[in-house]
Amino acid sequence: MQYKAIRKCQYDQHIWKEGELLEFPGKTVPCPVCKGEGCIKCHKTGRIDPPHHFMPVTHVNVVEKKAEVDAEISELDAIRAEMDEMGKAYDRRWKLQKMRDALIAAKKETGK
Ligand SMILES: [Zn+2]
Repeated sequence: MQYKAIRKCQYDQHIWKEGELLEFPGKTVPCPVCKGEGCIKCHKTGRIDPPHHFMPVTHVNVVEKKAEVDAEISELDAIRAEMDEMGKAYDRRWKLQKMRDALIAAKKETGK
């Protein structure tokens, strides 16, 4: 697993710069206090090694993906609300692109 230093720190007899990548081949050591659940001692990482100032690189990607999905969901909700306001019918299974198209069409129709 690859980790990225999120701030300057000292670890494994090396000074790490922010953004520097750490190859951590072994298993992470879970936090003995919370057993991986995440607590104050382990800074909510659930592990003590690598330390909390290293962030798993794949974890970063997952967080970004989730933010993307959240943004899509909130845009979908906004479009649905607008469609409701205009009294236009739509299918809740429609994906974002189809909803965008439907909204444009609805706006044209109502002359807005
Ligand atoms: Zn902990």
